[in-house]
Amino acid sequence: MSEIKVLSKEVSELIAAGEVIDRPCSIIKELVENSIDAGASVITVEIKNGGRTYIRVTDNGKGITYEDLPVAFVRHATSKITRKQDLDSIMTLGFRGEALASICAVAKVDVLTKRPEDDLGTHYAIEAAQQTAYEESGCPDGTTFTVRDIFYNVPARLKFLKKDVTEANAAADLVSKLSLSHPEISFKFIRDNRTELLTAGDGKLFSAVYAVFGREFAESMIEVDHTYQGMHITGFTVKPLSSKPNRRFQNFFVNHRYIKSRAMASALEEAYRNQIMVGKFPACVMFVDIPAGAVDVNVHPAKTEVRFSNEKLMHEAVFFAVKNALLKFDAPNRMKLDNSRNFSERQLYSVRPEDTGEQLRFSQPVQRPVPPAKQAPGFNKPEPPAPPAPTAPVPEPVSVGFKKLDTEQIERAKSGEDIFLSDLEKTDVKTPEPDTLPPVQDAEPPEPEAVKVTEPILPEDSGYKFINAQSFEKKPEPVTIEYAKKESPKPVVVGELFKTFVVAQCGDEMILMDKHAAHERYIFEQIKEDANNLQPQILLDPITVLLSYAEYDAVCENLEKIATLGFEVEPDAAPTVAVKGVPIILGDNDPTEVLCELAKNLMENKLNPQSEVFDDLYHSVACKAAIKANDNNSLAELQTLLDDVYENDDIRYCPHGRPVMIKLGKRDIEKQFRRIV
Ligand code: ADP
Ligand code: MG
Repeated sequence: MSEIKVLSKEVSELIAAGEVIDRPCSIIKELVENSIDAGASVITVEIKNGGRTYIRVTDNGKGITYEDLPVAFVRHATSKITRKQDLDSIMTLGFRGEALASICAVAKVDVLTKRPEDDLGTHYAIEAAQQTAYEESGCPDGTTFTVRDIFYNVPARLKFLKKDVTEANAAADLVSKLSLSHPEISFKFIRDNRTELLTAGDGKLFSAVYAVFGREFAESMIEVDHTYQGMHITGFTVKPLSSKPNRRFQNFFVNHRYIKSRAMASALEEAYRNQIMVGKFPACVMFVDIPAGAVDVNVHPAKTEVRFSNEKLMHEAVFFAVKNALLKFDAPNRMKLDNSRNFSERQLYSVRPEDTGEQLRFSQPVQRPVPPAKQAPGFNKPEPPAPPAPTAPVPEPVSVGFKKLDTEQIERAKSGEDIFLSDLEKTDVKTPEPDTLPPVQDAEPPEPEAVKVTEPILPEDSGYKFINAQSFEKKPEPVTIEYAKKESPKPVVVGELFKTFVVAQCGDEMILMDKHAAHERYIFEQIKEDANNLQPQILLDPITVLLSYAEYDAVCENLEKIATLGFEVEPDAAPTVAVKGVPIILGDNDPTEVLCELAKNLMENKLNPQSEVFDDLYHSVACKAAIKANDNNSLAELQTLLDDVYENDDIRYCPHGRPVMIKLGKRDIEKQFRRIV
């Protein structure tokens, strides 16, 4: 007797089904995708017991005719591909005509469907590939699939299902992703008789984000809209201050399909580098529309992990889209005063510690009138500054600019010297007379003028230039450009709070700036600028470093770039390299570790592959060199610092991700004092 047998149809169906359906979630995905294909504008997904015993997907789509319905369950039956040329769509959209056949091989399926143009619909049921009902039936327009008892005939698969709650969470996650990628469809998700999600279906992504992640999340987002090399990147990305403790909130869609991509995640994170706190991650809901054929998306219909034929291009597209959005929309944090908690009459007229409002606290009744921020007309000289507290001796304040550090100063800073204070000592400038202080009351917007915009830091060879506060473009040559900025008032320092926060007025806004954070970021940016050409320190004995083959390739392809970062590396027998020189600033850090990280960053196409170890080194140099809270600084010094950082879009956060300044609008203050309602 022959040992080779052809499997029975039932067994081969089960094997084929296993390729498409491995858990309740995969059934929901297939059914909902069919509903979307059928042009539905309302889709309901209901599950019970994690979808194990019950899944229902109802849509208001075009429905299926009486004659077609049984055919839909035949393997390779599809209305979406007819010709061989259509095969491409199998790769891109996943039409394989297998879903319904696979589902009915492993579960009990019941369908009610009616086309809007028909009077009667159809009821069809199928169990273990056997038809159990096929009749005309009255029903609403659209289609309802009910799938019961998944894997009732494949106990081995049933065993692999996770706990009901885990399967249900996976289903909820799937429906969320689908509703984000289709804001034009109203989705409802019901878990064990409870509605968990309901989206508006008004076509606005913001509404979908709001419904899925909630108000706080939606309001912490800024809009992304950028076109890059034929790709259109849209959606939302998080304000740096609202970044998340993990990567779970990074949602990427390519041509409206949810995908996972290392290239995109790494580009997103690079755009946020040095803007968010350690241990925090950016969140986003981002869509990339790629014209068919521009970038080959190697995607398996049932899998979400994808690779692009040109990962570098994808990295750049996401990086510039996010970077531009942050530059454009991530304004300094606005303070919000809660109007519903305005002071009561009693609180207004008898301010006592225990009955002050939540938002503004006075530790004791105000005893001394504060020097007016705005001078009454007729005064020639401003009030002298309030006398300092007796406990704090005030050294000679001097006026010194926070000028650009020169190379020598940077070197000193790197060796741990406190450059700011030593600068002060060198400069022998007298305290400015009070009336030479910048006029505080000058709130009128100055004449429009040409404002110098400095380029944000882009890697030398990135091939892009910064064209204005909003966008980058491919550069012919790197330049600092000038453009006429529309009337923007200049910030003017009013004073200092707690020897830590600079208080300034800019047009109709009050600014509070953390002087240490601001100065620290300022120095950090300058050191980084200087660091594009790091000098190597030649090692007496070269170090041999064993890399992975992929790392070795990345290093060999980028020897020149690595040299500008201060590493002298020569390829040895693959996959080892000989390190002959290391950047001086590296100090005691292990060059092997830094080189591996560099290689990894090069592999991820980071625009600035410099290892984060460098950033940490620069952070600590900048932190040491910067002025600190409780340092004594003259108003003129603080004004110079404010001038230096205010126009610089890179200085919104200190290198650790703490905000540098916050703003409060005049209107908000007036509201609190009930000058306006
Ligand atoms: P595919 O989606 O790859 O074509 P399926 O097995 O998922 O294959 O579906 C088979 C066919 O059944 C589809 O091509 C479509 O014509 C029809 N169909 C399935 N679900 C629906 C639905 N909700 N509304 C209208 N037609 C549907
Ligand atoms: Mg399908």
